Amino acid sequence: MSAGVDAYVRSTALMGTVVSMQVIGHCATDTERVARDAAVDRAFEWCREIEACCSRFDPTSEVSRLLHHVGEAVPASPMLFGALRFALALAQETGGAFDPTIGHLMEARGDNIAYRTRAIVNTAADASHETNWRDVHVDADAKTVTLLKPLMLDLGAVAKGLAVDLAMRELRDYTNFAIDAGGDLYLGGTNAMRAPWVVGIRHPREVDALIQTLHVSNVAVCTSGDYERRLSSNAPPDEHHIIDPRSRTTASASISATVIASSAMVADALATAAFVIGGRDGIALLEQHSVDGLIISKSLERFATRGLSRYVGAVAS
Ligand code: ADP
Ligand code: MG
Repeated sequence: MSAGVDAYVRSTALMGTVVSMQVIGHCATDTERVARDAAVDRAFEWCREIEACCSRFDPTSEVSRLLHHVGEAVPASPMLFGALRFALALAQETGGAFDPTIGHLMEARGDNIAYRTRAIVNTAADASHETNWRDVHVDADAKTVTLLKPLMLDLGAVAKGLAVDLAMRELRDYTNFAIDAGGDLYLGGTNAMRAPWVVGIRHPREVDALIQTLHVSNVAVCTSGDYERRLSSNAPPDEHHIIDPRSRTTASASISATVIASSAMVADALATAAFVIGGRDGIALLEQHSVDGLIISKSLERFATRGLSRYVGAVAS
């Protein structure tokens, strides 16, 4: 007889990746089953809404439409406003190592194919080429966004995390559940074996190997890896999808950065920022935010926050 509990799993292609949701526990009645399925439906719906709001690959998204209103204060949805305000604050804090205004740069470097339609996006022609986070203004009282120059926002480092946070709110009453949006995770409670969730961080250079295993409950875990997403197939082999906006070249300090935090949006963005900054300074950024993490350098040197040991090989509370 198995000591495990039932697990209900659903997966869908969304936000350029595969999103999976898993709810642990047995439904005793049809009513319970219907309620659980509806909660999972709502969780997926948030991912669709975030995509419709934040994708720079969709010309009708809220982010893309801002480009038609340069210089105007545009009322923003709570999703766009929340993601952008956090991203701009992190940009300021990191002196631009993290920068949500790199849309046209990403596009010009070959990250320009909409995954769903395979259409090539071409907004770079409308956008100026030397822009940074100072060229966007958010008004916290009026909840508006103003592009001070023509630029394409790229919320690729925050939007998936925000979607995971919103999905988590729909599932948290189930206590034991997991959300995986292509490496951006939230792990609620315990797994089907009634134990803390085990998250394997992929070895950045060895196929089918893990560089670290974490035992977690009620936290988000997000990893940025240089192996995650290549640019177009004819890009040079060491080019990937994380940029150091200060040099406008591929970020090369790290090959993997993982962050554990209570919010997936925070973990997602900080993983990207820590990846760009790298090493001890990257870890210092994580410690300033009171989150834990692990950064692997190009030479496979490991840099970890002091608190990471809580999650390694032991049960985290
Ligand atoms: P993934 O999308 O593979 O989970 P990340 O969370 O690290 O990876 O996000 C990478 C995405 O973030 C890129 O595809 C791009 O959209 C955006 N990005 C890349 N470099 C930066 C940067 N320096 N600052 C902010 N966003 C970035
Ligand atoms: Mg990230």
